[in-house]
Amino acid sequence: MTPEKLAKARILVTNDDGIHAPGLEALIEIANQLSNDVWVVAPEFNQSGAGHSLSITRPIRARDVGPNKVAIEGTPTDCVLYAVKHLMKARKPDLVLSGVNRGTNMADDVTYSGTIAGAMEGCLLGLPSIAFSQAFTHDHPIKWATATAFGADVTRKALAAGWPHNVFVNVNFPDVVASSVKGVRVTRQGVRAFGSSIVERIDPRGGAYYWNSYTPGDHEPDDEADVVAIRSGYVSVTPLHLDLTHEATRRKLAAEFEAT
Ligand code: MN
Repeated sequence: MTPEKLAKARILVTNDDGIHAPGLEALIEIANQLSNDVWVVAPEFNQSGAGHSLSITRPIRARDVGPNKVAIEGTPTDCVLYAVKHLMKARKPDLVLSGVNRGTNMADDVTYSGTIAGAMEGCLLGLPSIAFSQAFTHDHPIKWATATAFGADVTRKALAAGWPHNVFVNVNFPDVVASSVKGVRVTRQGVRAFGSSIVERIDPRGGAYYWNSYTPGDHEPDDEADVVAIRSGYVSVTPLHLDLTHEATRRKLAAEFEAT
């Protein structure tokens, strides 16, 4: 997309943290730096961890929050579908931006992420789509100003380069102030260092309940990985696609099955 086209682009903004999330305001700020035609359709409630889920057993309620701003009782995928197929069907968005998520979406976590899914859905609908996430440390203020300092430039540059229709872009911002950002690295989806765990708690009536949690670990020493770029203070830009086929294994299995 050329800078001229981007300046006139109709931008759809969504997220998974919900309509009240500070990160949504950060992304609206980024979108407003790019174009004057910004529409917001975001979940009424926090949908972090919703992944690419789609509401099919519950109705999707929509609430007008302000001009061109709608809250949806549904997932980020529902938001993008509602926006493109209903709210904006007379003139569809030219660009879908999702985020800015509270926390990174990298490595193996991308498939859990509702933020990533917002961009996935835009991609499936044939629209250029970008997901944004801001790294943070627990008990510290989140550095949204890092996202808003770099988001528009990263978007302009990535769109100027362009990508195929079956690809979308995943952007993560490091947990440093904007002036300390070392630069932008174009990365690949890395491998998650930490493991999963289930934490048991006891409620006031003595019943057990559980939280998904994690066990810490060390990241792989791969300079091209998203996780390493973020840990090293770079903005990470990763092109992703929805085709999960592993081509080398497909060929190997095909040869095996054809031989028998
Ligand atoms: Mn989230």
